[in-house]
Amino acid sequence: MDFKSDAGIDSGSVISGGGGGRGGGLAVGGIGGVIIAIIAALLGFNPADVLGGGGGAQGPGAQQTQCRTGADVERDPECRWPAYMTSLNQYWSQTVNGYQKPTMRTFSGSVQTACGTASSQVGPFYCPGDQKIYVDTRFVGQLLQQLGTESSSAAEAYIVGHEFGHHIQNLTGVLAKSQDGKTGPTSNGVRVELQADCYAGVWFKWAAQNPDDIIENITQDDLNRIVDAARAVGDDHIQQQSGGGVHPDGWTHGSSKMRKYWLAKGFNSGDPNTCDTFSTDELGQ
Ligand SMILES: [Zn+2]
Repeated sequence: MDFKSDAGIDSGSVISGGGGGRGGGLAVGGIGGVIIAIIAALLGFNPADVLGGGGGAQGPGAQQTQCRTGADVERDPECRWPAYMTSLNQYWSQTVNGYQKPTMRTFSGSVQTACGTASSQVGPFYCPGDQKIYVDTRFVGQLLQQLGTESSSAAEAYIVGHEFGHHIQNLTGVLAKSQDGKTGPTSNGVRVELQADCYAGVWFKWAAQNPDDIIENITQDDLNRIVDAARAVGDDHIQQQSGGGVHPDGWTHGSSKMRKYWLAKGFNSGDPNTCDTFSTDELGQ
């Protein structure tokens, strides 16, 4: 995946660094809900430190990234994050009525959010309370590797596209459906997650075809990596990796097969209207 060197980047779409407001409420819609527990087991930290509301260490003051065009991504790889966001904003702003931009907040180690404090390594998530996508940019590569898929710009773009999908769901009102506390392959929570995967696929299709988009090309290799990342974050795969066997009743995001099915459905149609995971029993199981 390359970026067009002369295409503009909206540097205001990403804020980097620590600090920020605090508040209550639960973060929803991480790329994989049980990842926190799995990574805790792998890395040996206490998940309560992540999920609790205590004040974590503060990073340097938050600031906008200094990225102007696609050419800046080569100079400063951190510019790839606002590049993904620029593309996503361009697509969704022309697709959703009453559109409002989300912001991405990149951090490393600790950040305070309207959904509480993420005080140690935690997978990417969306907080509806402040309409921000939070990404621990150093950790995301490790996370992908631990789940058995290679870190790449394509895999990262899938993660950002998925979290952006939750923002769209926040605007359409669908996101609240995931808050009933139920789990399992046909639960509302899983349907919300699969729809976010489908939305990521729709965006990839648009980005691959639109000559004005900042994303220059999406290769077959990129597509393979995107699909493999969707496989890696499947609940059954994560459960297998944690060594406890596969228990569909506990699924929060859907199996590898289901996630690949909806990602592909979005990509093949290029139409978000095909992402209605609530009015079908065919969830790709
Ligand atoms: Zn999610």
